[in-house]
Amino acid sequence: SNSSSQLAQFIDEVPNFPKPGILFRDISPLLRNHFNATIDALSALYTDEDWKNIDTLAGIESRGFIFAAALAYKHQKGFVKVRKPGKLPNVHASIEYGLEYGKDSLHMQKGDGSRILILDDLIATGGSLQATCKLCEEVGYNIAGLACVIDLTHLNNFNYNGHGVRSIIQYSD
Ligand code: IMP
Repeated sequence: SNSSSQLAQFIDEVPNFPKPGILFRDISPLLRNHFNATIDALSALYTDEDWKNIDTLAGIESRGFIFAAALAYKHQKGFVKVRKPGKLPNVHASIEYGLEYGKDSLHMQKGDGSRILILDDLIATGGSLQATCKLCEEVGYNIAGLACVIDLTHLNNFNYNGHGVRSIIQYSD
């Protein structure tokens, strides 16, 4: 098995992507070489007791889907999508949010009152996660937690109604 620091070696740092001045953290080599270890590391952010209090995994399009879906399978939970515009039928609510690279909106179908754990690949400013938290509550879920593979800790101090974000790799600059 791999510790988080060992997994961090498999993050590619790509300068000037997707535009000049941005240092993009690319999880592709991590997924290619250590997918199971990555899913297990995300799973281990929560105790067995925590997992009993999680009913549903939500993934933010598109890389959040990878992690939420794998964790849903591992823990035998349901999986729901938080989608970009124009993809999802039966949208119950949507929210606009400011992204690191522009503006977008997220859409969800109606929730069922279950306790939801929200997944994404990376948190930068926290705008996407903040919007997703509000949207999950608006459509009818209770937030159980927030997790991602990478936290750019210098860009956020994430807290949503007392929920912090858990991550397996952190960068502070
Ligand atoms: P935030 O909303 O500012 O926290 O930005 C996070 C969102 O932008 C996530 O959905 C990420 O997938 C994406 N993102 C921002 N920076 C990076 C990066 O360096 N690598 C991969 N994804 C990124």
